[in-house]
Amino acid sequence: MKRLLVLGGGTAGTMIVNKLRHGLDAGEWEMTIVDQDDAHHYQPGYLFLPFGTYTADQVTRSRHAFLPDGVDFIVGEIDVIDAAAGSVSLTSGRSLPYDYLVIATGVTPRPAETPGMLGAEWRKSIFDFYSLDGAKALAKAMQDFNGGRFVVHITDMPIKCPVAPLEFTFLADDYFRRRGMRDRVEMVYVTPLSGAFTKPISSARLGTMLDERKVSVETDFLVEHIDPEAKMLVSYDEREIPFDLLVTVPLNMGADFIARSGLGDELNYVPVNKGTLQSTAYLNFFAVGDASDIPASKAGSVAHFSVEIFCDNFLQLVAGKPMTGAFDGHANCFIESGKGKGLLIDFNYDTEPMTGKYPVPILGPFSLLQETRANHLGKLAFRWMYWNVLLPGRPIPLPSHMSMAGKTNEN
Ligand SMILES: Cc1cc2nc3c(=O)[nH]c(=O)nc-3n(C[C@H](O)[C@H](O)[C@H](O)COP(=O)(O)OP(=O)(O)OC[C@H]3O[C@@H](n4cnc5c(N)ncnc54)[C@H](O)[C@@H]3O)c2cc1C
Repeated sequence: MKRLLVLGGGTAGTMIVNKLRHGLDAGEWEMTIVDQDDAHHYQPGYLFLPFGTYTADQVTRSRHAFLPDGVDFIVGEIDVIDAAAGSVSLTSGRSLPYDYLVIATGVTPRPAETPGMLGAEWRKSIFDFYSLDGAKALAKAMQDFNGGRFVVHITDMPIKCPVAPLEFTFLADDYFRRRGMRDRVEMVYVTPLSGAFTKPISSARLGTMLDERKVSVETDFLVEHIDPEAKMLVSYDEREIPFDLLVTVPLNMGADFIARSGLGDELNYVPVNKGTLQSTAYLNFFAVGDASDIPASKAGSVAHFSVEIFCDNFLQLVAGKPMTGAFDGHANCFIESGKGKGLLIDFNYDTEPMTGKYPVPILGPFSLLQETRANHLGKLAFRWMYWNVLLPGRPIPLPSHMSMAGKTNEN
């Protein structure tokens, strides 16, 4: 028997075992997936918890329910990979040998990496929404907030779902308006980037949307520490930003076992070929989803499109053929903008978001780089799609590569 070991049963790992279980002969291949717990989180849903739109129950399901027969699911914490020996050790002491390895352990927020973030004000006036506990705690803080300086902050890039802090800001503006207290809230958006977003065209569009909502923007801000007593963000160039309520996105890093195994860069991202996702160090292993260092957004959509390419390539590889697929960095993200509307952006490694319709030219129903109700409904419908279509690995009639059909260049 040949052994395929998948580390991480999140978005990418779950899709991979669902797709490959159909493609690999069960008489020849043992497939195992490891995760530290049995709670699969629909992370895009974290955005809505602070506003009471979703509850924690709606974004959490058992991993077991999504794993196919013929795949061994092991609950355990990964300790270290011995790539030379071809085995992975769990902290329980169990050793799992493999012939092929997929690292799909994602990234996590690391508040401890910024001095002062985890200090006396953590979860009192300093919150995050990049974890389920954080989003739940923030929901209470939003209800209790009566006005003052409300600061949304990104520690450093890359982060997963780089538009999520902007969406959070737009939704917070809408939330304060609906509560009749917007005039008592001074909103500030603090980013290490030189504009609202990474890509120039969408950055200009999203920056205008922040202006329209009277959110002031502090750019090129690299936080050095947080002073919890003074309630102040302090940057390396000694700028100070006071807050009454801070919603921060802590540094995002890959899993620590990647560093312990000597397989990551300084943020524990695994270096891979950006087309095939094959490790640059070992030919029998791949990193898929947020865990890799590809220069694409860390997003569920990227995980989905790249898993399609990876699985086809993997079946070629184990059949002794050359891998012919090359991932193009395709990402698409709905951006909630408040008042029941949203935008959609679609882009890849080389092409910036453009205007037009998606996925069907002229018809849409989604509009690129424009605020529409259909985009908002698409974002809400995506939770159903995630649980029922994406995770089980069912085919979706969307091309993995970015298509130029329906795109216009009105920028
Ligand atoms: C607030 C927020 C909003 C988002 N919104 C969107 C959106 O609108 N659209 C979009 O496309 N994407 C969005 N994302 C991003 C999306 O959720 C991730 O990009 C996606 O889940 C990445 O999948 P992954 O499989 O690489 O990692 P994950 O789904 O995070 O899975 C990694 C798995 O590895 C496991 N693991 C890690 N370390 C260990 C260890 N040592 N031992 C055992 N198991 C381990 C974890 O338990 C986890 O289950 C959002 C994310 C957040 C936080």
